Amino acid sequence: MKRWSEVTAIAALVVTLATAVMAQGDPAAARNTNAASPSASTDSNSFAIRNVRVFDGERVVARANVVVRDGRIVAVGNGAPIPAGIATLDGSGKTLLPGFIDAHTHSWGSAQGDALRFGVTAELDMLGDWNRLPALKQQRESLARTAQADLWSAGAAVTAPGGHGTQYGMNVPTLAADGDAQAFVIARAKEGSDYIKLIVEDMSGHSATRRWPTITAAQVSEAIAAAHRADKRAVVHVSRQQDAMQAANAGADGLAHIFVDAAASDAFVQAARRHDMFVVPTLSVLAGMAGTGEGARLASDARLQAQLSGDQLGSLTASFGAQPRPQYLERALQSVRMLHAAGVTVLAGTDAGNPGTAHGASLHGELALLVRAGLTPTQALAAATSAPAKRFGLADRGRIAVGQRADLLLVDGDPTRDITATRAIDTVWKNGYAIERVLQDSAKPATAGSAAPTDTLVSDFDGASIDARIGLGWQPTTDQMMGGASTVSHALVAGGAAGSSGALEISGEIKPGSMFPWSGMMFFPAAKPMQPVDFSRRKALVFWVRGDGREYNAMVFSGPSEQSMPSMQAFTAGSEWKEVRLRLDGFDGADPALLRAVAFTAGQPAGAFRFRIDRVELR
Ligand SMILES: [Zn+2]
Repeated sequence: MKRWSEVTAIAALVVTLATAVMAQGDPAAARNTNAASPSASTDSNSFAIRNVRVFDGERVVARANVVVRDGRIVAVGNGAPIPAGIATLDGSGKTLLPGFIDAHTHSWGSAQGDALRFGVTAELDMLGDWNRLPALKQQRESLARTAQADLWSAGAAVTAPGGHGTQYGMNVPTLAADGDAQAFVIARAKEGSDYIKLIVEDMSGHSATRRWPTITAAQVSEAIAAAHRADKRAVVHVSRQQDAMQAANAGADGLAHIFVDAAASDAFVQAARRHDMFVVPTLSVLAGMAGTGEGARLASDARLQAQLSGDQLGSLTASFGAQPRPQYLERALQSVRMLHAAGVTVLAGTDAGNPGTAHGASLHGELALLVRAGLTPTQALAAATSAPAKRFGLADRGRIAVGQRADLLLVDGDPTRDITATRAIDTVWKNGYAIERVLQDSAKPATAGSAAPTDTLVSDFDGASIDARIGLGWQPTTDQMMGGASTVSHALVAGGAAGSSGALEISGEIKPGSMFPWSGMMFFPAAKPMQPVDFSRRKALVFWVRGDGREYNAMVFSGPSEQSMPSMQAFTAGSEWKEVRLRLDGFDGADPALLRAVAFTAGQPAGAFRFRIDRVELR
């Protein structure tokens, strides 16, 4: 959903497929295995595991042998014969599980690799770039070696113009209030959507004042009926119970989230049961909105830590930047408890791609949250394996049985007793190939910024050009990088603060067209853009400002990855020069030890703006 990341992801996919075809064309390479060494299984997609506890997707087999040949399971059972000469591991003390299926993600960039490193062998994307649908289908039908989880996707969603799902910088198709829902769904089916995602969201479940346009009740019914005629499942995003009820009564196959405006009523539970509607509660993302620190706890779990990339770490520890809503998680846990007790199918899904979550790692957190909501560990494991495979029609996944694809996860200990044992990963197999779980150095989290200079002054704008005492200096930044249309210009002007000779004037226009419009100037403290510098010994961002009386934002970009969410504080630019001092610890979630950039920006409302800054210091 970040446009350039999508392009990169597609390019990476093409490379992977090309490599896979070449590998398939050389059977001698596949046969060149050393049967004596368990690690030899990385060279082949044929192997066996003996004496292992098996969770087969539904139940536990205390002790079994499992044989994989050419990427598929060919034998399972206590005493199943192991062919001579096949690479064999001893599974004593370990548990073998089907690879996990995350039933709600937004997968772009490195998502599929991140997922696979943590044993999530399939993700169900709930809104993403539809152009890649044919390539995704080709990839998941292959049994070739791959470093990526398989991906199914809704592609574009059924949403209103300006509605939820249109704010991510991709130019997405929308269904107008007088639009033809059936034709819209048929167009998605033609693009290759694996299922149809509907978005019913006017924000009234989240806010007393904000309202977004959303599709009508009649369009919900028409779109679901059209999806079923096209032989597609219909999955609905809601955040209010009344919308969930309406979706159930309209025949929706599932909910993409549990609602957050209340705990489930008996009437809703009965409706979900009567219509056999599954629910993907996405407790992980709700925990993020609740501000419970769930993501940070996962990030600090020693069993997960070593495989977390900088981007994953940044995302897990990011916040939504809004007021925490602890009631969201409390209500959701209560709803899941009731739905599960009534026999409604609950599926594990994280909404990874959002703040507070990370692909792969968060599925392990979701399992623990499902157990907290009253599922037994075995039921939670089924909610991440056989249940999503069944409800989404993924024929050869989610179980350990003869004929199934060998997408497998071997862990130490017994997650059917202690659900967190899923995090003690021994090996992940995709298409029968053991995957390399070691992170490349470039993907590892930054642990230290370069040393900060002794001078606290960044820029005084008194020279002949816009220079900085440290780092790369200043550059314009606008929402155009996310598909917006806001503009900015900047110039050195005479007459700075406190009698100095010059200042930096920043002016432009905030234009509608982006859900989060911004425009301003950005400063990089290192020699390269977004490289971290250690300002942990500084207390405040201090600068002088004057301007048109509008409110502006100071934004701090920091943290273990370039993708870490920025945090901001507002200031007002009045008609007289004024010194502003913003404490660094007042930037919520910012890490001054890994400071990557500072920006001064205008945001909402739309319109022209003009302000000047002078004597910027990190003090
Ligand atoms: Zn989502």
